[in-house]
Amino acid sequence: MPLPVVAIIGRPNVGKSTVVNRLAGVQEAIVYDEPGVTRDRTYKRAFWSDREFLVVDTGGLVFDDDTEFLPLIREQAMAALAEASAAIFVVDGQTGPTGGDHEIAEWLRQQPVPVLLAVNKCESVEQGVIQAADFWELGLGEPHPVSGIHGNGTGDLLDELMAYLPPTDQLDETEEIKVAIAGRPNVGKSSLLNAFVGENRAIVSPISGTTRDAIDMVVERDGQTYRIIDTAGIRKKKNVEYGPEFFGINRAFKAIARADVVLFVIDAIDGVTEQDQKLAGRIADEGRACVLVVNKWDAIEKDSQTIYDYERDITNRLHFIEWAEIIFISAQTGQRVEKILDLVNVAAEQHRRRVTTSVINEVLEEAVSWHTPPTTRGGRQGKIYYGTQVSTQPPSIALFVNDPTLFNDGYRRYIERQFRQALGFKGTPVRLFWRGKKVRDAERSVNRATKV
Ligand code: GDP
Ligand code: GDP
Repeated sequence: MPLPVVAIIGRPNVGKSTVVNRLAGVQEAIVYDEPGVTRDRTYKRAFWSDREFLVVDTGGLVFDDDTEFLPLIREQAMAALAEASAAIFVVDGQTGPTGGDHEIAEWLRQQPVPVLLAVNKCESVEQGVIQAADFWELGLGEPHPVSGIHGNGTGDLLDELMAYLPPTDQLDETEEIKVAIAGRPNVGKSSLLNAFVGENRAIVSPISGTTRDAIDMVVERDGQTYRIIDTAGIRKKKNVEYGPEFFGINRAFKAIARADVVLFVIDAIDGVTEQDQKLAGRIADEGRACVLVVNKWDAIEKDSQTIYDYERDITNRLHFIEWAEIIFISAQTGQRVEKILDLVNVAAEQHRRRVTTSVINEVLEEAVSWHTPPTTRGGRQGKIYYGTQVSTQPPSIALFVNDPTLFNDGYRRYIERQFRQALGFKGTPVRLFWRGKKVRDAERSVNRATKV
């Protein structure tokens, strides 16, 4: 799994969702479906320092009540904790420790996950220290006074949390490359799959995917293994009745979400359609790497210009994935089919790529000196302090700036282009996060000042 998970645990109404939104920051407070994590919980992306992680709210955890939903909620919290690198136990500083808090604390003490204790609703810093002190009795170490609503105290909490996240190099994926073959009906997906199977005789075995009818297949070439996702959703068997939903778009979306690299097949005869644009948008949204496979190239009459005209037209119409490499093939004749995996290798490598902070800042310095950030009418100018890569798959770069609102879309796109020009990233989307340093720094320095 690419990002570490932090579970938020506590009784109902102590302010868990408020704390989650505070940790995730206003800008990144989006529900995020991260491939590889369970779908029935809400994950939000959060940053602190140079780390990125997912925060998961577990719903109210209660032990001493007996309504029918409680076992379910408890199960959810346990499942969330099982995949978490750390937990934040939120309690209510205004009510003080309750019996429920004690029960949860006792349970948490038995878990193998490090726990930070956040005493919420401590808006007043002096009062907060006193309110928090009551929670030493839970036996979970130092209680941290915070206010989810006002934000105070969260900086210190996050500083401590960083120590519990696994080192970044442990998070990189295994060597296997997960490949999804996606595209509209009749573009030639199953023909392509067959061509692969024919070509790469070293099929290891079909293995079951996440759901019962999603069969993955493992192919090996030159010591590299590729897991082709949900081949059952691609392959048509004769004499078997499949409903339209079996090959439907939701099935394709699921395969895309699980993939490292999407082989996005389009039909050279039809060209780019609206459905193709929808799929391209999804691939970009999911942050998957992509190779654009233009199939049925054998059926096209061509001259020396045709391929360039196609390339230009496809890039224009699929601008969400303009970074993807395009290959023209024929699944039927086998033309260039063997080259596809070379492009998959490149895309997968770029998708997992990690660039050092010094290189990122060289690019930024160069970019800013050619083209300084915009200045508002009031004379305020955007300043980029520094950038650093916070995660891979896809490469995601946080830019720490004085105030994100000072950077308009035009300038953001310019910086993005500069990164691509300097660093390539062929075949993978790249994400940039514009982060204001102002608010949290002010919050923290206030905090520090009042603590002394
Ligand atoms: P959850 O059920 O634990 O997720 O709690 P919520 O986040 O929904 O908050 C429960 C109630 O506590 C709401 O009325 C919030 O406005 C309030 N609340 C949350 N955080 C704070 C805080 O930092 N200070 C105060 N005074 N109230 C808060
Ligand atoms: P899927 O629905 O995307 O899996 O598409 P299929 O693999 O079933 O192919 C749909 C139709 O396109 C079939 O009639 C194939 O014979 C035809 N087809 C597939 N690949 C090619 C190709 O490379 N060239 C030509 N001319 N036809 C192809």
